[in-house]
Amino acid sequence: MFRLTGIAVSPGVVSGRAVILNQRAQVLRYQIGRGRIEREVARLDESRERSRQQLHDIRERVASRHGADLASLFDAQLLMLDDPMVVPRAAEIVRAQRVNPEWALQQVLLDFNALFDEVADAYLRERKGDVSDLIGRLTMNLQRGVTTPRELLSALDEPSVLVADELTPSMAAQLDWTKVRGIATDAGSRTYHTAILARSFDVPAVVGLHDASARIEAGQIVIVDGDAGTLIADPDAEQIARAAHHGDDRPAAADPARQAPARTADEVAIRLEANIEFPDDLAAARYAGAEGIGLYRSEFLFADVPGDDVGEERQYEAYRKLLEGMAPAPVTVRTFDVDEHQLAQRAVDRSRGGGWIPDDQRASRQGLRGLRLSLMRPEMFRTQLRALLRAASHGRLRILVPFVSGVEQVREARRIANAVAAELAERGTHVPQVPLGAMIEIPSAAYTADLLAHEVDFFTIGTNDLIQYCLAVDRADERVSRLYQPLHPAILRLVLMVRRAAVRRRLPLALCGEMASDPAVLTLLVGLGLRSFSMTPGAITVAKQVLAEVRAADMRALARRVLRLTTADEVERELLAALGRLSLTRE
Ligand code: PEP
Ligand code: MG
Repeated sequence: MFRLTGIAVSPGVVSGRAVILNQRAQVLRYQIGRGRIEREVARLDESRERSRQQLHDIRERVASRHGADLASLFDAQLLMLDDPMVVPRAAEIVRAQRVNPEWALQQVLLDFNALFDEVADAYLRERKGDVSDLIGRLTMNLQRGVTTPRELLSALDEPSVLVADELTPSMAAQLDWTKVRGIATDAGSRTYHTAILARSFDVPAVVGLHDASARIEAGQIVIVDGDAGTLIADPDAEQIARAAHHGDDRPAAADPARQAPARTADEVAIRLEANIEFPDDLAAARYAGAEGIGLYRSEFLFADVPGDDVGEERQYEAYRKLLEGMAPAPVTVRTFDVDEHQLAQRAVDRSRGGGWIPDDQRASRQGLRGLRLSLMRPEMFRTQLRALLRAASHGRLRILVPFVSGVEQVREARRIANAVAAELAERGTHVPQVPLGAMIEIPSAAYTADLLAHEVDFFTIGTNDLIQYCLAVDRADERVSRLYQPLHPAILRLVLMVRRAAVRRRLPLALCGEMASDPAVLTLLVGLGLRSFSMTPGAITVAKQVLAEVRAADMRALARRVLRLTTADEVERELLAALGRLSLTRE
């Protein structure tokens, strides 16, 4: 038995098996039953074969474009793929420690890194990058389609205690709380947004434990004591008996409450819609009580489709399914936000049944992408618009164009959409009026929101990109992740600027970036005057709960104070102090 001491942030005492979340590596570590071992090892083998195929394709493509010399760079990774220290070693770890293969691969990477750090040879040390690239690929291929902690946690057999290095509020908001008995994190303080969430869910939590996620083993029995601020590993029978089993007793959120629209404590209606990537996510959106789909990232059709058939018919069916599934609620379809690189990769992967490059592996985020690419390839754009407009009569469709940097682009988009609608009408297809909106996610669009407001029917603020372009921080580069500050005064001012432009033209405005999934930040956005949001379905229930606790009038006053502050840290402190006062008055 040993005891770690941290900061008590949510009261109560629970015991359970530990699940380790390494948020930085996006890898969960959990214990698997004996009967599951061979299945997990087989997953490793499948991932190796998928990775081999991808590497062969990449090498061929590079060879044909840039010559054999450059292509040979990938030979090293192909050789490593069969190295006994990689996949067989990971399989050994799975069998010996009965852990999931994602975690086993992470261990392999750590071992390699330690080994490379010891060698003096600079060339060999650089091979570290190859190994981490390869392990990343193997992990990605293991997890195909599994990305959020909610999905990762759904792989667990029983409700567990989550021990994490760090748990960001937007991730915490997406957790399946029925699977979480208690929380212990290495990082954090009492005003950590995640702590606020844990309190609102009545889940005992201890934060600031420094190295708990490294010291606790997956599957180890632990007690989270949210009163004393301790985490006890391998407790004795008496300690376990004393621990309350909150997880089993916690009442499930009542369904009517989940389905009711969001309202603040002073009865201001807040519209919460869902961001989805696949038509099948509709069930999750409806379950969460979303009032519509605020963002359907249609480019994920490329990921979902075998072969190269993302032609008009397939698109039409997907859009129709969405519209009918959500009717009478609205569905906002964002036209393809892909870049050239992703399209090229798709062409390579065609023979194997579709391919997709996750956002963090794309070559360019500032090049030919989104609406720019659609306008460069009018046939692709026209096909998408035709499919959309044909499907429009099956529900309430809104079309949203991404990556707009200037007025002329939306004018051109509207001209093409009107032409496609006229052609369809000529063929006898009924085409209803469909609102056309612009994503405000490039600073130039935010600065010219007053001009753009004359050209479109609605705005959706995409803060994921707006933050990265305004602060010049690549959202996928973790080395600068500390500078990615949603609460930076510049971001708050841009949001306010867009809101004012929208209000002046009475233009519907929503915000669909990840920052709205953080309930604390959401309340500030309400204070800034926003009334409509779109977020990942898993975050909606918590958002409703937190909104019901705050008064919009108080948040307005808070926003006024916050707008006078000078740094993101000051803003965060002010926000958390306000919410802290609120939870104190509740307690
Ligand atoms: C955004 O940029 O905020 C957004 C919602 O779009 P995506 O994350 O797909 O770029
Ligand atoms: Mg975006």
